[in-house]
Amino acid sequence: MPNFSLPDSVFEEAARRFPTPFHLYDERGILETAEQLNAAFAWAPHFEEYFAVKALPNPEILKLYHQAHCGLDCSSECELLLAEMAGFSGEDIMFSANAMPPEEFAHARRLNAIVNLDDITDIDILASNGGVPETVCVRFNPGGAFTLGNAIMGEPGESKYGWTREQMLPGLKRLKALGARRFGLHAFLASSTTDPTYYPGLAGILFDLGAEMEKAAGLQLAFVNLSGGIGIPYRPEQPRVDISAVGEDVRKEYVRVFGDPANGKAGIKTELGRFMTGPHGWLLTRAVHEKKIYKDYIGVDACASNLMRPAMYGAYHHIHVCGKRNEKADHRYDVTGCLCENNDKFAIDRMLPEVKIGDLLVIHDTGAHGFSMGYQYNGRLRSAEVLYTADGDFRLIRRAETPQDYFATLTV
Ligand SMILES: *Cc1c(COP(=O)(O)O)cnc(C)c1O
Repeated sequence: MPNFSLPDSVFEEAARRFPTPFHLYDERGILETAEQLNAAFAWAPHFEEYFAVKALPNPEILKLYHQAHCGLDCSSECELLLAEMAGFSGEDIMFSANAMPPEEFAHARRLNAIVNLDDITDIDILASNGGVPETVCVRFNPGGAFTLGNAIMGEPGESKYGWTREQMLPGLKRLKALGARRFGLHAFLASSTTDPTYYPGLAGILFDLGAEMEKAAGLQLAFVNLSGGIGIPYRPEQPRVDISAVGEDVRKEYVRVFGDPANGKAGIKTELGRFMTGPHGWLLTRAVHEKKIYKDYIGVDACASNLMRPAMYGAYHHIHVCGKRNEKADHRYDVTGCLCENNDKFAIDRMLPEVKIGDLLVIHDTGAHGFSMGYQYNGRLRSAEVLYTADGDFRLIRRAETPQDYFATLTV
């Protein structure tokens, strides 16, 4: 079930204070989810969530994670700069880039961030761009199809990320020769899954491999990094993942491989993005156009530049019409933006109450991979971002772009 924690009065007040379209984020919800995750893994040695910055790269949001004792997962120079801006440093930053410019390793090392190596050839690049630190993380890709029980969770054999099984031992030995003493083990094998067996299944694989490599390579397993991938209920019929049950099932795997967590063997890290902020953001937009041809269309003042997931993946985002939550959904609409692209539709054949021009539409679950995937195609500009604060106020945390921003990079 998408997140209905905020009453329509909050959306209406926000839309009185700021012109649509904009993303609204709920500070309290963001902090509560961080607390729930930390509680679910409170049993684990050195537990730390590294919020995936790419999901919601606004420094005011990142500061909330500082407050919630989380770190950040960064994958580019600008994301490292954002982390610095929000007050993060040292091992509270995980740098997991792939195919990136070598000098970004040097930047990450200057911050004393943990570096997660995507490929065996990254070892030498790291060695000559900041050097190999005592603790270094490596990203594993088991290849083939990744299944748990009867479910196909992902196709790692088709994914560009990580090291093969065969590369692990020689790579770790090489890292040791270059000065590493401890290693972390990372894998990201399913995306946006609401299957509660994903993390425990992945953890079991990484704990086993980590214990084996620890012996074979003579390096200490510092931590297992379960990365991101836990999904959220975009659709009304989907359940929310019970993160405390997931934490408990990961604990059982831990005990199976390492024994009592109190002995403080390997630590646990996560890099969740979508699960952390996804349900705590909404795109607020007004109906500005109604069109009846072979189908009925509602044109809104937002477009795929503000939320690309429906256009890009055909992703479902729940929509409700503000003030009409209890009215019958007896009209069938395509809800469209204004781009000259027929995939610029927030919803296709969606049943909604009758929409009138000027109605406020609330598009749910835009708190992750929403604003951040925005672009400027067709000369459409990125929107503002507004924080609904824990004390019930509204704070503009990014203004909307203007034509000056659009032209700012021209050189003549
Ligand atoms: C995108 C990404 C994440 C977060 O993924 P979610 O699906 O948002 O949880 C975590 N780690 C890495 C390396 C990523 O690229």
